[in-house]
Amino acid sequence: MKGVMYENVGKISILDNIPKPSIKPDEVLIKVKYCGICGSDVESFKRAGMYAPKTIIGHEFSGEIIEVGNDVKKLGIGNRVIVNPILPCYNCYWCNRNQENMCKDSPKGLGTLTHGAMVEYINVKAERALLLPDSISLEEGAAIEPLAVGIYSVEESGIRMGENAAVYGAGTIGLMTIQALKVAGANIFVLEPVESKHQLTLDLGADSVFIPKHWKKIKKLTNRIGPDHVFDCVGIAETLTSAINLIRKGGQITLVGMDPEAVLKSFYALAIFNISLRGIYGYTQDTFRTAINLLEKNKVDVKPMITKVIKLSEVPAMFETLSKPHDEIKVLVEFD
Ligand SMILES: [Zn+2]
Ligand SMILES: [Zn+2]
Repeated sequence: MKGVMYENVGKISILDNIPKPSIKPDEVLIKVKYCGICGSDVESFKRAGMYAPKTIIGHEFSGEIIEVGNDVKKLGIGNRVIVNPILPCYNCYWCNRNQENMCKDSPKGLGTLTHGAMVEYINVKAERALLLPDSISLEEGAAIEPLAVGIYSVEESGIRMGENAAVYGAGTIGLMTIQALKVAGANIFVLEPVESKHQLTLDLGADSVFIPKHWKKIKKLTNRIGPDHVFDCVGIAETLTSAINLIRKGGQITLVGMDPEAVLKSFYALAIFNISLRGIYGYTQDTFRTAINLLEKNKVDVKPMITKVIKLSEVPAMFETLSKPHDEIKVLVEFD
């Protein structure tokens, strides 16, 4: 079968001789329909990221079950599903508290350190799969994983209704975070350099959006003390430095995207302004349920983020495009 392999920095290749997987009794076999290209896929392509070389990428996907293991009770052939790509051990301190994103084995997951879903067929533990309601298309389903990232970061931030939040970056994760913040009842201010993304940012729930050099306008709009929360969905030195200048003393910065070096350099400023820094990784199975629920009830929308659907053969060229400045938000790969 065909699939997309991350060979190493700068090299993505299409393979056509991957053996079709077989399933264990607690697994299902999924025929993948859509798989998203994630910012972290592109990051690992540009410079060494968290991905192991020679890994089949893909962790944001939807598809149809075509085979079911003997022990699987709740799913059947023909079910449309999405999958939580985190692969927990199911038996550590965190897994026993349903915090499998903090599992002792984390961040082991599909498409990063183990083979992922940008392939025609994938076997997964049935427990990791979630049924898609009829009203949610498979295309939208492939965008639920980044939606779960946004929801989890907002839930974990502890933000309260009516508090002020600034979001850095209106890419996929930023836009998902903005929508989750809207559901949570926050006032939302966004900084995004690409002006063509500003209207969509407002449409999806931001109260105002500025280019980064106008960050002081957010200070003014928040009684000159700065927002209570910042969600850094970029996580580079520039955004984190700006976030520290913008946030009110005693506020909390949630790192949704992260460059490790930028974080280290900022500790002193965090200390003297009493700023809390909250790290975020992944989501739980509950977050996925919340994401599906909000999407089904039309409280959030992922369709406007899907800016392109491409064929498998177009993937390597798309990685080149996404490595340079571009207008895409979420690109999906379609399997037929
Ligand atoms: Zn992703
Ligand atoms: Zn565990």
